[in-house]
Amino acid sequence: MVVARRRAELASARAALPGSVGAVFTMGALHDGHRALLTAAREQDDSLVATIFVNPLQFGPAEDLSRYPQSLEADLALCEQAGVDLVWVPEVDDVYVGGLPRVSVDPGPLATDLEGASRPGHFAGVLTVVCKLLHLTAPMRSYFGQKDYQQIALVRRMVHDLDLGADIVEVPTVREADGLARSSRNVYLDEAQRAAAVALSAALRASADAARIGSDRDTVLNVGRQLLAAEPGVAIDYYELRAPDLSPAPEHGEARMLVAARVGSTRLIDNYPVELR
Ligand code: AMP
Repeated sequence: MVVARRRAELASARAALPGSVGAVFTMGALHDGHRALLTAAREQDDSLVATIFVNPLQFGPAEDLSRYPQSLEADLALCEQAGVDLVWVPEVDDVYVGGLPRVSVDPGPLATDLEGASRPGHFAGVLTVVCKLLHLTAPMRSYFGQKDYQQIALVRRMVHDLDLGADIVEVPTVREADGLARSSRNVYLDEAQRAAAVALSAALRASADAARIGSDRDTVLNVGRQLLAAEPGVAIDYYELRAPDLSPAPEHGEARMLVAARVGSTRLIDNYPVELR
């Protein structure tokens, strides 16, 4: 496995990769969720590039950029184990040469909804770095986790609208045994918060179960929302039922439940497919 630091090292190592290239973009603090992306890519592509970069552009001023968890040594070991051929670990000025960009990707209307309503500028930062990483790593396929459901919708939209060309592959959310979605931010949770955090996935599951027995949209939504609201350690940011493309929910058919909530000072997100009968 080649570990590239500077841009020039990435370029020469990338040029030497044979066959189809798969890419996985991460912010490090790697866990089994990231591992699932790497495994999926390893199975499908001849060569595998991973990036580890905490992108300052996607953090708001009051967010956790300065305390975002870092574990480079363990991350590189996980990459090596997962069969990564090339990992790029740039500094901020390798990605944003000469300072933060003056030109960036406008993520469009979906970026002010759901996550974007609480995190202004977040998706412009995400799409700008994903656009750059797609150019710099030039993959045939790029793998994203369903954990960040709205992010995938926006990345797909960008790749389509701006003709970026890479195939976007979705990988299902990897969870802890009790249902909590794996996240780098879970390390912030103390014991009591960790116990409260399971309410997010429990609520989503309750909504999905309600849909399965034929409940209507309002009931599906309220069953989960009430369950979550009853957990004193959790402050709901949103709990919503939408169509798979995040437009308003249909009366029948496939839909998506999405949640964001604060547990202590940690903001967690999750989502779940539901089938409205
Ligand atoms: P991050 O390092 O949080 O920016 O995530 C990098 C990639 O890993 C994104 O495509 C995420 O959606 C994906 N990812 C993060 N957590 C999970 C998870 N629990 N299951 C599946 N994919 C995940």
